[in-house]
Amino acid sequence: MSRPINRQILLASRPTGEPSVDNFRLVESAVPELAAGQVLVRHHFLSLDPYMRGRMNEGKSYAQPQPLDAVMIGGTVGEVVESRNEHFAVGDRVVGMGGWQEYQLVDAHQRGVLQKVDTRHVPLSAYLGAVGMPGVTAWYGLVKIIDPKPGQTVVVSAASGAVGGAVGQLAKARGARAVGIAGGPDKCRYVVEELGFDACIDYKQHGDVKSLSGALKAACPDGIDGHFENVGGPILDAVMLRANAFSRIAMCGMISGYNGEPIPLAAPQLILVNRMKVEGFIVSEHMELWPEALKELGGLVATGQLKYRESVAEGLAAAPEAFLGLLKGRNFGKQLVRLA
Ligand code: NDP
Repeated sequence: MSRPINRQILLASRPTGEPSVDNFRLVESAVPELAAGQVLVRHHFLSLDPYMRGRMNEGKSYAQPQPLDAVMIGGTVGEVVESRNEHFAVGDRVVGMGGWQEYQLVDAHQRGVLQKVDTRHVPLSAYLGAVGMPGVTAWYGLVKIIDPKPGQTVVVSAASGAVGGAVGQLAKARGARAVGIAGGPDKCRYVVEELGFDACIDYKQHGDVKSLSGALKAACPDGIDGHFENVGGPILDAVMLRANAFSRIAMCGMISGYNGEPIPLAAPQLILVNRMKVEGFIVSEHMELWPEALKELGGLVATGQLKYRESVAEGLAAAPEAFLGLLKGRNFGKQLVRLA
């Protein structure tokens, strides 16, 4: 019997500075016959995430680098199309780390490599976004680090994105005031009108820290009690100037420096002066909290109380370009690639 053809994208070379499509290579091969215990998953969506940029580098960060000539790492959702594992049946919808490829052959007896998901109330793709890793990231930083009290003000950068959009809505659900920072009028309008933030500042309208911090002063008349940082650089400097005593910063991402750009902190003395808590975190190191977070996120999405938006690139070959776009803010909401 002829086997399905699997198309895959490999890391062909490591970038210096900005990555390009030449760093990736598309290959194809037939899917092997399944061995006992294996499951074949046909991917429906691939998640593109900023962390992938770090994995393309040689040096070790908090995770090992992605090996050259191997399938690019990535979260995936899909459907079981063949199974030789008693725990998975053809037709099951699953989420896993299948990588940049159309099919994944999985040794499904390994605990946790593949999770069945319920798509009756939550769309399959949401398990890569609001009810997946980005959603849990928002939840962890907001609930466990910022811990906003009703009436307090929470600011989040990259506010229209997969993580940022959830941060503000979770803050609002806890009675806090939510202020976003995002690039461009369309993203800012969406953050306020669709996601329900109290305000959103277009950082592209503010060329320096002074101007941005002036805009923050107007949007946050009582100062900033909690900040969820996704970007770094001048955005963080501007927020620090408006931070209240005993404010908390969840250091989630520093995307403005992912291509190696220097992102100095202008006034670290404010951490002392304002007795601030600044805490970095990696969501995959808090697996014990995922069930609690996913329960809340899944419930909010199923009932329409947590909104999100997706940018969907069509077909595996479009993944490298879409990934480069994500690093430049060309995505609007969760960046996905449709694979089936
Ligand atoms: P997003 O959907 O937010 O997409 C990235 C966004 O970053 C872009 O749309 C763009 O938005 C913004 N951006 C890119 N470059 C710049 C820049 N130079 N200056 C300002 N903004 C920029 O991605 P995610 O929601 O998936 O991720 C958000 C952040 O969370 C990232 O920093 C990521 O690394 C981090 N993260 C951290 C995790 C952890 O465990 N610590 C886990 C998951 C994500 P705009 O157009 O508004 O500028």
